[in-house]
Amino acid sequence: MENNDLPPFYVGQEVVANSNHHQNTFKKGDEFIVQSILKCGKEWAITIGINRYGRCRCCGKISYTHHFYANRFSPKHKFGAFISMKEFTEKQLEIIGVN
Ligand SMILES: [Zn+2]
Repeated sequence: MENNDLPPFYVGQEVVANSNHHQNTFKKGDEFIVQSILKCGKEWAITIGINRYGRCRCCGKISYTHHFYANRFSPKHKFGAFISMKEFTEKQLEIIGVN
């Protein structure tokens, strides 16, 4: 059985929108970089640098940074090969260092 509790993306990953957002916030094919990963109710959600004050109508969180269901996005680059956990960790540390 698939483990649905693993985050679908990592911070700093390039993702592409699968479809148009109903409020025209983004269009299918628009590219973003994952800024953070969080849970919206039981679903994984990501922030992609779109800032808009408000209450999430799904989970009720109030913030300045809009979050979207992660399943609205696909990775921009499909992995051709698995990277090692060491490489992954180093990449995460790089990103933390930059921010
Ligand atoms: Zn939410």
